[in-house]
Amino acid sequence: MTTDPGVELANPALAGDAELAFEGALRPKSLTEFVGQQKVRGQLQLLLTAASMQQRTPDHILLAGPPGLGKTTLAMIIAYEGNRPLRMSSGPAIQHAGDLAAVLSSLVPGEVLFIDEIHRMARSAEEMLYLAMEDFRIDIMVGKGAGATSVPLDLAPFTLVGATTRSGMLPNPLRDRFGFTAHLEFYADAELEQVLTRAAKLLGLVIDREAIAEIAGRCRGTPRIANRLLRRVRDYALVHGGDADLAAVHAALELYDVDEIGLDRLDREVMNIVLTRFGGGPVGLNTLAVSVGEEPDTIESVVEPFLVRIGFLTRTPRGRVATPAAWRHFGLSDPQAALTLDVL
Ligand code: ADP
Repeated sequence: MTTDPGVELANPALAGDAELAFEGALRPKSLTEFVGQQKVRGQLQLLLTAASMQQRTPDHILLAGPPGLGKTTLAMIIAYEGNRPLRMSSGPAIQHAGDLAAVLSSLVPGEVLFIDEIHRMARSAEEMLYLAMEDFRIDIMVGKGAGATSVPLDLAPFTLVGATTRSGMLPNPLRDRFGFTAHLEFYADAELEQVLTRAAKLLGLVIDREAIAEIAGRCRGTPRIANRLLRRVRDYALVHGGDADLAAVHAALELYDVDEIGLDRLDREVMNIVLTRFGGGPVGLNTLAVSVGEEPDTIESVVEPFLVRIGFLTRTPRGRVATPAAWRHFGLSDPQAALTLDVL
């Protein structure tokens, strides 16, 4: 969590307990309420319906995509739709095989186990998970050293729903054990307008269509950010005693340093480093991360996907490279392009 309001506002990572409670109130509870991701919704619907017709637990499901696109929401929907209990855990909370054994051995039949950030789970736990996913069985080590023995333990059948922002970091044996992988995409503006209209209704906020469209265009294709911006606009209208209109959106987002295409301070800093300090690149991920004082993982899974999606950055084997669109957006001229022109 960060104290910089500008970073917090457009950063798709979850900001804290208050936001968690706020999101809880806005989370869609069924696949029909879930906006966008049409393909994934259709695929999930089929998988869940087939499982319920055969009265078996649905296959294990991997949800991959940048933060804030609805992975946790979908995991909850998978449980609700099948009327199954849900257990929530996360990769960082599973640091030993024993942590995972404790969770797995206490699952009830048919339970949905959600493991967020599954790529951050300990290796030893990963190996235990292979057997659990395939045979609903684990081997527990009893004792130490030469006298150690492994005791098999049968588990209740369960559905694992794993979420990851870095599907490339999952070992193949783990990836292969999921019956279905859903790749979540950034949302189109029209879908974000639907997300916002629904959220405004739930919050009892009167907001005009122009304002909704403006927020949709500034939320990095991410429902979590859309809802967060909506909250700030609501605050602005409340404090200034006006309507939640276009003027309120402009004023609130300017206050929080979100630009007209939704880039926040960190996005701009990354682009600024690539463009001005490294002449447009290529620049390596680690160098870039050190230059902006962030973890490489944050740059790779939070900042870059959107910059790549809007065509500002490309990933090459030699590093990150700024595109002509990025030079144009920041009002700078590409020295390489000038060089090429000179040669011509
Ligand atoms: P992730 O787990 O991918 O980081 P979440 O599932 O926590 O993302 O989604 C963040 C918030 O965005 C949720 O609370 C929900 O209100 C909203 N949201 C996400 N996807 C959708 C969607 N498709 N339709 C409506 N709201 C959504």
